[in-house]
Amino acid sequence: MPPSPRERATTVSSSDHQSPGPVAAPHPATQAGPIPFNVPLPAGNELAYLAEAIGNRHLSGDGPFTKRCNAWLERETGTRQALLTHSCTAAMEMAAMLFDLAPGDEVIMPSFTFVSTANAAVLRGAVPVFVDIRPDTLNIDERLIEAAITERTRAIFVVHYAGVSAAMDEIMAIADRHGLFVLEDAAQGMAARYDGRPLGSIGHLGAVSFHETKNVIAGEGGALLINDERFVDRAHILREKGTNRTKFLQGRVDKYTWVDVGSSYLPSELNAAFLLAQFEKIDEIQRARHRAWERYHRVLAPLAREGLLAQPTVPQICAHNAHIYYVTMPSVDKRVELLRRTKAAGIGAVFHYVPLHSAPAGLRFARQNGPLPVTEDSSARLVRLPLWAGLADDAIDAVAALVADVARGR
Ligand SMILES: *Cc1c(COP(=O)(O)O)cnc(C)c1O
Repeated sequence: MPPSPRERATTVSSSDHQSPGPVAAPHPATQAGPIPFNVPLPAGNELAYLAEAIGNRHLSGDGPFTKRCNAWLERETGTRQALLTHSCTAAMEMAAMLFDLAPGDEVIMPSFTFVSTANAAVLRGAVPVFVDIRPDTLNIDERLIEAAITERTRAIFVVHYAGVSAAMDEIMAIADRHGLFVLEDAAQGMAARYDGRPLGSIGHLGAVSFHETKNVIAGEGGALLINDERFVDRAHILREKGTNRTKFLQGRVDKYTWVDVGSSYLPSELNAAFLLAQFEKIDEIQRARHRAWERYHRVLAPLAREGLLAQPTVPQICAHNAHIYYVTMPSVDKRVELLRRTKAAGIGAVFHYVPLHSAPAGLRFARQNGPLPVTEDSSARLVRLPLWAGLADDAIDAVAALVADVARGR
């Protein structure tokens, strides 16, 4: 398997800024030096809050910073209960437990996603059932879901690729008709909306990520958004190693003990302290990301009009969050050439998911419902371009110029 996006994302670090490193001579368009795919930037109060957390003498989970982060998420998304976790992966594992997925159960999801979406089901012995994606948003094609439902289907795991929402009204209606649970993998979805509603707040459960490659970050981090009241009490227990410690701390029981299955899903207060500083600056971060996204979109528009590449499509009902700027090249060869030339120029352009149905573990643990032509075709031609809050306009223009050269065969 090729390097994961996050491994690739860190192959060029910001500290390399002056030296092109072992790669070939920079492309004339990138005299400024390497342009990393992502740079995880502090936004303001991170160091002050870390110092405060250390001073609090409370470094384990669920201290004051974790509580402030949970409260912020609840305010911001309108979810019933937000629980910080150490990753989005962990939040999705909790969701699979809360849905009581059991061996032989089936979960419908796209193949075009990160491995964690599928692993959450597989860890319970459930079988991911892949259906194809829509060519416009690269999200699960809601029109294909019903045909994949069997008497073993328990849930639909929806992924909001690039912070552009899947068709949640249609998907929730299907779930209601068939008595299925919906988990939103909103790892990429912070600050994005569907019909005015924050991503992660629409399904029965939502999971968001604060990994350093996402829009707001904690290094590693995530949260479970519990939109359905029924899951709140048990979520506290699963996250606290299967104990009723939360009730004990709230004074609702006089000792705490082992009451259910569970694991350790709490992040340290240090992560929460960093994250709170990011939350406080989310508007600035989002403004900067949108500026960069819009600039790519404007500069590359003529190429799209000429049919030399395809740009992302955002349906009217979605407010995206500028999480990813990607282009879809007209052929696999053009994609290979673009990746080769960006690499030679020190530009951190990267492909994305190897479809899970074609991966060794996908073949072992999952099945596909029908052919997945859009998944296979789109994933083979997609390239993500550098995008972060501090990315300079001239860097964007240099990247776009190289994309244009490749698209035009120069
Ligand atoms: C990043 C990502 C994840 C994993 O998030 P972690 O916080 O690193 O566990 C899961 N799903 C999708 C779609 C992602 O983009």
